[in-house]
Amino acid sequence: MATAPGHDDIVRIVAPNPGPMTLEGTNTYLVGRDPVYVIDPGPAIPSHIEAVRAAAEERGGIEGVLLTHSHADHTEGVELIAAPLLHGTVSERDETSTPEAVLDGPHTGWVGQDSPGVTGEIGPFTLLPSPGHAADHVCFTRETAAGRVVFCGDLVLGHGSSIVPPAAMGGSLAAYMRSLERLAALEPDLMCPGHGPWITDPAAKVAEYLAHRREREAKLVAALEAGERERERLLDAAWDDVPEPLRPAAAVAMEAHLEKLAAEDRLPAGVSGR
Ligand SMILES: [Zn+2]
Repeated sequence: MATAPGHDDIVRIVAPNPGPMTLEGTNTYLVGRDPVYVIDPGPAIPSHIEAVRAAAEERGGIEGVLLTHSHADHTEGVELIAAPLLHGTVSERDETSTPEAVLDGPHTGWVGQDSPGVTGEIGPFTLLPSPGHAADHVCFTRETAAGRVVFCGDLVLGHGSSIVPPAAMGGSLAAYMRSLERLAALEPDLMCPGHGPWITDPAAKVAEYLAHRREREAKLVAALEAGERERERLLDAAWDDVPEPLRPAAAVAMEAHLEKLAAEDRLPAGVSGR
């Protein structure tokens, strides 16, 4: 548990669910005092939810819960928190759910598919629709005398990069790039990500994220222009720096890149099937 730099009424509690996608674990935020708002309760791990509830109790109790997006590692704990859900949808899926699993699973179609149009105010927060990582992804902005804070979920992470899956898994790289641009336009003073540490240099971080995706796209386009059409070799060419455990995630990310190029009429014919 740690308070945000310059904002002692923002607390971060990291859930014990570390992994390649979740980094050190999912970040749960308590915001305000008497009462507090909980952003992303995280996984349904009793010790984590207990820690969140105890910290909230010390700060005057929970007014309500807000979710940046429906992925399970952010939302599963909603039921255990037992406080009103003010924004978002709980899902069992995450960015690693395959299209097949999505179609065959008990839930069909992405929940909150229409929420990119969502805007408005909830308590002290303004909603910023930010699809890309997930169709229903939003950021929450809070203005205080100490500055503009954006709770950015998995749009931007404290370190490493966020995965943007293809449409069948709820993602869109084109939407993701527009979401990053909207986030940059807000000129936040501090960003609180869904995973990883506080982002105290938001402008530089968002610029780095935009540049990173453009660089991947340029590498992919270069490989296609060189005549490569095999998916495995396109992956080798454009994700040449990715360690083996993250290769499946990179393959998912490449699908989103190929979709974006196809939508822009920039994808040559003959790319091998999956
Ligand atoms: Zn996440």
